[in-house]
Amino acid sequence: MAGTVLSLERMLAVRAFALVVALCALATPALAAQTERDGSEVPPPPPRLIGYRLPIAEPLVLEPALLPGASRAYRAGIHEGIDFRAPYGMPVQAARDGVVVRVDSTYAEWSADDRAAALAEALRIGHTPDDVLDRIRGRQVWIDHRDGVVTRYAHLSKVADLAVGERVVAGEIIGAVGASGLPEGGPHLHFEIRVGTGYLGEGLSVDEVSYVLARAFSPDVSLAVRGF
Ligand SMILES: [Zn+2]
Repeated sequence: MAGTVLSLERMLAVRAFALVVALCALATPALAAQTERDGSEVPPPPPRLIGYRLPIAEPLVLEPALLPGASRAYRAGIHEGIDFRAPYGMPVQAARDGVVVRVDSTYAEWSADDRAAALAEALRIGHTPDDVLDRIRGRQVWIDHRDGVVTRYAHLSKVADLAVGERVVAGEIIGAVGASGLPEGGPHLHFEIRVGTGYLGEGLSVDEVSYVLARAFSPDVSLAVRGF
């Protein structure tokens, strides 16, 4: 009997955990526990999902097509980031303090023919392969925030003079808006909040995505937006 109660509790705990994971659209952060000198393990910090600065001097527009989870029919895929409409060359800023883990200081645009062939293949197989998605994101900067969260800044026209391993602070200029990777999309900032092996907003409804994003960018974005 005790064993039955215990396993029921365990089942409920597992279900509660699964719900939290689903609500936050988080994959389990791929961070290993830190081991102290005395051998004790210190769990990694939980992903911080509030207090992000807007990465650009443009508003967060909560139109479904601009948000994570939107369909991208031209490549048989799903949008994994947030699109900010912005003019070419506008400065892009780090959304949080962190460490640069990718900066495309040397970048070669892929040809229109290669792009067309890759997109046609994506349509044929019914999804966008990771390497194609990476080419579509164009010139990028990635910042690791050391809590299982990495922010990605894509389609940049140029990157700041940064090196991998360099620390940046929130608000620091890391690049400029462009249309690299997908010139057909026109200039805009594609911004992703990667959490563990997934992305913020993954698997959520439009309302839920709007909520988690407004919350992520609060107080820059008021939770009063859309009545939250
Ligand atoms: Zn995008």
